[in-house]
Amino acid sequence: MKEHILKPRLRELVYRSIYPFENNRPIRRYVRDKILQRQYHKQKDVKTVPLEQLQFSLHLVDHCNLNCIGCDHFSPLASPWFADLYETERDLLLLHELIGEKCRYVHLFGGEPLLHPQINDFIHLVRKYFPNSDLCILTNGTLLPRMADYFFTTCLEERVQIRVTRYPINFDYDKVLHELQHRGIDVRSNEHVEKTMYMTPLSRKKDQDATDSFILCHRSNNCITLRDGKLFTCPMMSVIHILNQAFHTQYEVGPEDYIDLNTVRSYDEIMTKLASPSSFCGYCKMRDMRFGIPWRTSKRVPEEWIAEL
Ligand code: SF4
Ligand code: SF4
Repeated sequence: MKEHILKPRLRELVYRSIYPFENNRPIRRYVRDKILQRQYHKQKDVKTVPLEQLQFSLHLVDHCNLNCIGCDHFSPLASPWFADLYETERDLLLLHELIGEKCRYVHLFGGEPLLHPQINDFIHLVRKYFPNSDLCILTNGTLLPRMADYFFTTCLEERVQIRVTRYPINFDYDKVLHELQHRGIDVRSNEHVEKTMYMTPLSRKKDQDATDSFILCHRSNNCITLRDGKLFTCPMMSVIHILNQAFHTQYEVGPEDYIDLNTVRSYDEIMTKLASPSSFCGYCKMRDMRFGIPWRTSKRVPEEWIAEL
């Protein structure tokens, strides 16, 4: 069996046996705690070391044309929202003044980024300030057949990679990908379909050990997000208002949780802050993460995101 097929299946088997939804059996809990302890010690010295180069993502929209259970950007709960081109230019200019060319990559995501009618302008904008960084669109791919030729010309001219995540829906991914690759577009996708989702349960109170959560988290100091003139170490904090609006919760994001581009003074200050736990990490129950949740459409209920009391 090919490695790329074997790996996801193996991963799913391990997750299903070690992280079942309701995991109260003492032996399973013991094994899981041992694995998490190992993971903690392995990641401790990685997560808290500043990255050599910045990497960040821009939310182009909050909403999505799919509606996946437990989407970790809360898109099923989001009203249509479109990033503003002029505000984004202001942020990229500020960031460029602070970090110059020290940017490894920029990702455009959402929600579904292809829903933004000005996506071409965003691509040109990122290239204006970060001409040598990798530039990538993260998409579910289902809108690719409807995109205008101009979009693909822009992707070719501006060296944009399109990265597609496959979901178990009625859509011929292979056909679309092959057609675009034939046209010279740099479009990629894992061959496996994401048949399962994962969930980071949020505690209703900030009662978790923020450092522990930060170190165990796959997003911290990795999925860095730029929004409204602020840099966050992960996307969760930048879109938590969507969850608050939907369920009248009161998750708080304070000045200690992000970097304000208007007040930060140096590249080192940015990179050190991104490698430090945020107070908000105290909401994330990383030791109770759930994997192997069968993919289906969201019912838009709190249990998909919020830990039971
Ligand atoms: S495709 Fe991605 S952004 Fe859209 S609902 Fe699913 S997980 Fe969320
Ligand atoms: S708030 Fe902290 S622990 Fe929670 S997802 Fe973001 S980086 Fe991870």
